[in-house]
Amino acid sequence: MLQENLNQVKEKICSACERSGRNSEEVTLLAVSKTKPASDIRELYDAGHRDFGENYIQELREKHEALPKDIRWHMIGHLQRNKVKYIAEYITMIHSVDSLELIQTIEKEAAKHDRVIPVLIEVNVAEEESKFGIRYEEVPAFLEAAAAYPHVRIEGLMTSAPLVGDAEEDRWVFRKLKQLSVDINSKNYNNMKMSVLSMGMSNDYEIAVEEGSTMVRVGTSIFGHRNYQR
Ligand SMILES: *Cc1c(COP(=O)(O)O)cnc(C)c1O
Repeated sequence: MLQENLNQVKEKICSACERSGRNSEEVTLLAVSKTKPASDIRELYDAGHRDFGENYIQELREKHEALPKDIRWHMIGHLQRNKVKYIAEYITMIHSVDSLELIQTIEKEAAKHDRVIPVLIEVNVAEEESKFGIRYEEVPAFLEAAAAYPHVRIEGLMTSAPLVGDAEEDRWVFRKLKQLSVDINSKNYNNMKMSVLSMGMSNDYEIAVEEGSTMVRVGTSIFGHRNYQR
């Protein structure tokens, strides 16, 4: 059942790529498994899926312990500095970097494990007060300051669009983040290249792909609705 859902999402990603003249191999599908049991992840793992997104460190730790070690775990939720140490050894990518202090902590913890951690800068494109992320205008200055950390590699940008009834209303958010990545790449800050755009969730990933997303984060459409009273 979960595998069917996953395949449906993949097909929709392929269609969105065709509509926009893109190669579907440019788009990675993260299955967002927060609040869902390890057995659900195992089901998709056995079907060959490897990229999973989680939001909560305690939950991520338990699942990492319980599941095969070749799963690529992505941290997509807000990350507190004192929790970085728990995931630094194995995390594939941190999508939610929103402060220099957090980058400094990632630098320290990554160095302890002698590895470079790929990260994305979370951008609050729609300037929602309730959301984490750096303001759009502040991203270039932030990148200049963030370039100095050898164990942190900034690979791109991440955003979450506002929850709206019609996902078309959020198209501008994705287009704006894509434009920002193009602008940054043309200015060539310290050889940083914004090659990853993490954008698009269950309700809007097709539009995000049409607008250039390279990583979509899909939970509900794969695993069903979440129940937070675990
Ligand atoms: C939960 C979550 C998702 C997945 O949302 P769905 O609407 O269930 O697809 C994606 N990105 C982030 C940052 C999330 O917290």
